[in-house]
Amino acid sequence: MNSCPFCLKIQTLAQQLAPDCVWEFPHSHLFLGKWQFYHGYCVLVTKTHARELFDLATEERAALFEELTLAAKAIHLAVTPLKMNYELLGNQVPHLHWHLFPRFESDPEKLQPAWLRLARAEQDPHALAQAMAGPETPEKTRARIRNQLQQLGANSS
Ligand SMILES: [Zn+2]
Repeated sequence: MNSCPFCLKIQTLAQQLAPDCVWEFPHSHLFLGKWQFYHGYCVLVTKTHARELFDLATEERAALFEELTLAAKAIHLAVTPLKMNYELLGNQVPHLHWHLFPRFESDPEKLQPAWLRLARAEQDPHALAQAMAGPETPEKTRARIRNQLQQLGANSS
């Protein structure tokens, strides 16, 4: 478990809140992700190290689903996308985490998975810069999502 990058990140958070952390829920952390072409893109990481949803206790899974839903709603209210995309993959890091991609009408590839653009970004510095550039600073985006979570009455711990 010590080699899991998300477990290491969570251990570090216990000492000092990471600047990319938007919110700490009872069962998960919400981080602003680096792909801000998808303005408001966040990753929700479970506090429990588990590979699969069925590895979690029923109560924890249900609570996590509420945290996921609140996070998505807050992002939606903050950046008003056409649609939220929810992706739970874990092929690279097998620790439960959801990628929350807001998708916008202005995206010429709005019918494609976000990963196609991100695969190009891994190959090409120009595409990388484009995929990481948002319309505002990450600090402003984090503050707006956090503000929505506060207004929604999200629990924190
Ligand atoms: Zn882990």
